[in-house]
Amino acid sequence: MNIDLHTHSYYSDGVLSPKEIIHKAVNADCQFISLTDHDSTEGLVEAEECANKFNLNFIKGVEISAKHGPYSVHIVGLGINVNSKTLIAGLQENNQFRINRAKLISEGLQKVGIENAYKKASSLSKTKYITRTHFAQMLVMEGVCHNMSSVFKKYMTGNKPGAVKGEWAKSEDVINWIHSAGGLAILAHPLRYKMTLTKLKKLTRELKEIGLNGLEIVNSFSSDEDIAIAKQIADTNKLLYSCGSDFHGWPNQTIELGKIPKYDYGKNFVLNYL
Ligand code: AMP
Ligand code: MN
Ligand code: MN
Ligand code: MN
Repeated sequence: MNIDLHTHSYYSDGVLSPKEIIHKAVNADCQFISLTDHDSTEGLVEAEECANKFNLNFIKGVEISAKHGPYSVHIVGLGINVNSKTLIAGLQENNQFRINRAKLISEGLQKVGIENAYKKASSLSKTKYITRTHFAQMLVMEGVCHNMSSVFKKYMTGNKPGAVKGEWAKSEDVINWIHSAGGLAILAHPLRYKMTLTKLKKLTRELKEIGLNGLEIVNSFSSDEDIAIAKQIADTNKLLYSCGSDFHGWPNQTIELGKIPKYDYGKNFVLNYL
């Protein structure tokens, strides 16, 4: 069974429309798919309608940016009700910061001679959403950097000119929004945060204490060892297992929707609880 519970459309930093995401899922023989745009549920109705036409099981999702102590983390909500007033108001808060941040990123880049970054990055987005991915793609297209990861390293993290501290909503609030919307809260791509394993274990324990339900233990390029580490952290904290490709669809990215390492999740798989 192919199952992908973490994907992005152009309602955040992906390239494809929600319909195109569903077509990809059908072509990839997915039995279950979730669209999880950053801080946005705008694509979910379109995706669900399209999935229904193909008899594909669709799970309404969102990937919410959250602040936990000094860290910015991503918490995926699965099985959410998009009409939840608490969730809608919360996402609006994060998106206000997103727009302000984009302007600050642009000002930072201007100081090192990169002009009109806000306008140029916005023009890569087919919707009102602007993310760091749009800035990174723009700088790759302009030949400033060879790839996205060097943009993040040279321009958008730490003390670099386009780095802005992530003033996202607090992790406990984000988990509460997801629960208010009837969803399950999953810590996304746990091994991708720049922190030691000891810190990751502490982070996960603290998130569990405030209501986290699961951990994404399989992503596109997870090795057997990565999966074992993440599973162990999930087990220690009695968390469910989730999985997803984190597909975005930019031409210079190699992640494919629906293609993640095969794994036998057993009874703690999040799908059993949705
Ligand atoms: P934002 O939500 O605007 O902070 O943008 C974060 C997004 O940027 C992530 O969801 C990834 O899609 C992308 N991203 C972050 N770090 C990297 C990296 N090192 N290389 C490529 N993409 C990245
Ligand atoms: Mn992204
Ligand atoms: Mn993420
Ligand atoms: Mn993602």
